[in-house]
Amino acid sequence: MDATPFPFGPHALPVLRRRYLARDAEGRVVETPEQMLARVAGAVARGEEPWGGAAAAREMERAFLGLMSQGLFLPNSPTLMNAGRELGQLSACFVIPVEDSLESIFEAVKETALIHKSGGGTGFSFSHLRPAGDVVASTRGVSSGPVSFMRVFDMATEAVKQGGTRRGANMGILAVSHPDIEAFIAAKRRPGVLENFNISVLVNDAFMAAARADGPWQLVNPRDGAVARTVSAAGLLEQMVQAAHQSGEPGLAFYEAINRGNPTPGLGPLEATNPCGEQPLLPHESCNLGSLVLPRFLKDGEVDFPTLEEAAALAVRFLDDVIEINRHPLPQVARASRLTRKIGLGVMGLADLLADLELPYDSPEAAALGREVMARIAAAARAASAELGQRRGSFPAFAASRLAGGWSHMRNATVTTVAPTGTLSLLLGCSSGIEPYFALAYTRRVLEERDLVEFNPRFLARLAALGLDTPEQRRTLAASGNATAIQGLPPELGQVFATAHEIDPEAHLAMQAAFQASTDNGVSKTVNLDAQAGPEQVRRVFTRAHALGLKGVTVFRSGCRGRQVLELLPLP
Ligand code: ADP
Repeated sequence: MDATPFPFGPHALPVLRRRYLARDAEGRVVETPEQMLARVAGAVARGEEPWGGAAAAREMERAFLGLMSQGLFLPNSPTLMNAGRELGQLSACFVIPVEDSLESIFEAVKETALIHKSGGGTGFSFSHLRPAGDVVASTRGVSSGPVSFMRVFDMATEAVKQGGTRRGANMGILAVSHPDIEAFIAAKRRPGVLENFNISVLVNDAFMAAARADGPWQLVNPRDGAVARTVSAAGLLEQMVQAAHQSGEPGLAFYEAINRGNPTPGLGPLEATNPCGEQPLLPHESCNLGSLVLPRFLKDGEVDFPTLEEAAALAVRFLDDVIEINRHPLPQVARASRLTRKIGLGVMGLADLLADLELPYDSPEAAALGREVMARIAAAARAASAELGQRRGSFPAFAASRLAGGWSHMRNATVTTVAPTGTLSLLLGCSSGIEPYFALAYTRRVLEERDLVEFNPRFLARLAALGLDTPEQRRTLAASGNATAIQGLPPELGQVFATAHEIDPEAHLAMQAAFQASTDNGVSKTVNLDAQAGPEQVRRVFTRAHALGLKGVTVFRSGCRGRQVLELLPLP
């Protein structure tokens, strides 16, 4: 395999070539990874021109390129793929409204296809659709209901390969009070159905209280507000628990927690998120994400906070410039996105940072460090957005927003989001988002026809230092994927390199909460459970996540069915 230049990781090149690097009309790759970063820096810096002219653009181009080529920051995939190229669509996340009419449903299918073609992912609230079997006045027929219409979106997604790069991803959300909620919860229990969807139930505090008190729960037809049925709240929660235990879905999205963080309630409530759940958005809003690479901010065994804060401020400027140059796929998206100018700066590589510091992921020190890191990033990002607001003008909906109380200017309604960084972390060879290591040896199933085999380089280095990196030990590691079977390993090191399934669910939630504390939008996180975990553990994770005030929760039990981006496979 060709050598990959810094800052890219050892397995980046095939992915870059297949999906990111520019091609000519014949489809031949015509740029190097370094040229890709230069293209992105140059294109994004054009966003400076309205304020500082060409000179400012040149200066910021250098700054942006420095930030990326030192491996400190990367924007979300569509920005890397499309900036400075014909398509020019730079956002990862969209929410498309679906109203209770055939016109609206199929308009949304069309909008979805156009967004997928441009590299974005889409989320929907299906809560406004009348239930299956309900009357349709104009035809005297009956409606097929949300779950059935979701299949139309699913098939459209299947058919539209995104500019030849990646297939689209969707989030389907249904309110817990919808009469079709039981069918929705069970929708993905059979394999092969709605494979291009993640699904989440939007639950509210009243429902969680009713479930706790074993009380009744009313299912309400959104068409006329009539109570369709009354069910047991605990019974309904149990259906979610059983389905999530079996298949990892649905996740839960917490209505009040999400809407406490809604900066512009005057524009309406937040009812849907992007595909991976970390970005709640209003109808037709989009969001540009970017992530700081935590292990690269270590200096002399400590996090270099001044450098981290400086990078956060520069990243905010980058992401705000992305809004300037973004070619939105639809006029409605352009309008809604420019009204609030949402951006989402987050992190990747937390597990690497903790391993370098020899802090076990499940230690209170690790959660405290996570909390501080995100608080410092968030404060620097917020201050940078306020300064941009002063120079360039606040986002148009600022005056009526919740931010107007505490600030005189603000360029962006939200500034922070913790993304999954599924592909970005692969490009940089770091751990993804704020997740612990999934395994210490695994194949990454990223490209359709190719698996990438990887050992955790930090763990290998530690084994080598202890004289334990032998073919025998590597085979052991490859077979189990974790450190427990390695002979002669000091127990502290086993704790530092504990993998996702070995970490107590409570510690997963504690880390999610530590980052959520100062994140404007949501935090992408999966709570992994080991194969033997019973439904009661899923139930406990759901109720704890709600009690902690998290915006959402997803569980994944080892070995249960479902799409796994990271898959543990024994090596040959
Ligand atoms: P990346 O690492 O490629 O930048 P992430 O894994 O951080 O992306 O995901 C961030 C967001 O990007 C997701 O929540 C979703 O909105 C969008 N996204 C991710 N994968 C896809 C995909 N295959 N198709 C469309 N959108 C996607």
